[in-house]
Amino acid sequence: AAPVAFIGGVSRAARAGILMKGSTALEALAQIRTAIFDKTGTLTLGGAELIEIDVAPSQEAEELLRLLASLEQASHHVLADSIVRIAHHRNLALSQPRDVREYRGEGLKGQVDLTSIAAGSRSLVLGDRPQPQWAESGEERHRNAQALRVFLALDGELAGIFTFGDAIREDAPDTVGALRSAGVTRIVMLTGDDGAAADKIAASLELDAVIADATPADKVATVETEKAMAPTMMVGDGINDAPALAAATVGIAMGARGGTASSEAADVVVLTDRLQPVAEALRIARRTRGIAL
Ligand code: ADP
Ligand code: MG
Repeated sequence: AAPVAFIGGVSRAARAGILMKGSTALEALAQIRTAIFDKTGTLTLGGAELIEIDVAPSQEAEELLRLLASLEQASHHVLADSIVRIAHHRNLALSQPRDVREYRGEGLKGQVDLTSIAAGSRSLVLGDRPQPQWAESGEERHRNAQALRVFLALDGELAGIFTFGDAIREDAPDTVGALRSAGVTRIVMLTGDDGAAADKIAASLELDAVIADATPADKVATVETEKAMAPTMMVGDGINDAPALAAATVGIAMGARGGTASSEAADVVVLTDRLQPVAEALRIARRTRGIAL
């Protein structure tokens, strides 16, 4: 292969907002047949807008938001950034969280002021316990929305459920189409979110498979399985995606939100807050290989 062509490819990619970590990334990208996408923060924008807070009797919405945002200061999840931003916007005085433990892809637990808090997915916060009566109507109202739900428990009691809009990225359908045109034959969504939320996003995309309720370890296992069948790229955004990105033939991080573990684990970083460069990277790689052969 002619190195000059590869250098040309890497710099063409850079102009399109794609950081390639060396020419091996470009070469590997040219072989990709399977593309796996994380959902939250990758195919979607990741909960930028707070739609509603369902509140337990005896609790107060603003205070729940203040406690949640205080805890989320310790998290690097896309949702955490949104939550802290929303709280600042409302001039809420956040407290410093203590003894925080993050469950990647599920949520976090810790202390804020004198309260023990758990925040995150239904299974992390509620376990097998049923949802209380007051929470049912919110569930019903948002059944058909593209939304993310964050459950919040204070001292072990469910206190509130936050619903965030989780809109699909505008360029997601075109990106999926462009990947197929560029020779990708299998496209999969892989998410830590639940099946209902995943299906709502998947409905507007032409995907070959949707895998939900995946822990970070499940994500790695899925990447390994796909990779055994065909060269596979994994596109992700979160700190919880880092192991899956590292396991893929090519790991692509949505890195516009700054340096996280996912960017470090990736072979390719998309520097703009758009998805289309993922397809562009593949096209550049294929074209460059054509020149270099
Ligand atoms: P995806 O795999 O699609 O990116 P994630 O694994 O990031 O999804 O998140 C799945 C679910 O876990 C979210 O819908 C949310 O309920 C919960 N979650 C994960 N991290 C956090 C966090 N820092 N704060 C609150 N909830 C979280
Ligand atoms: Mg994500």
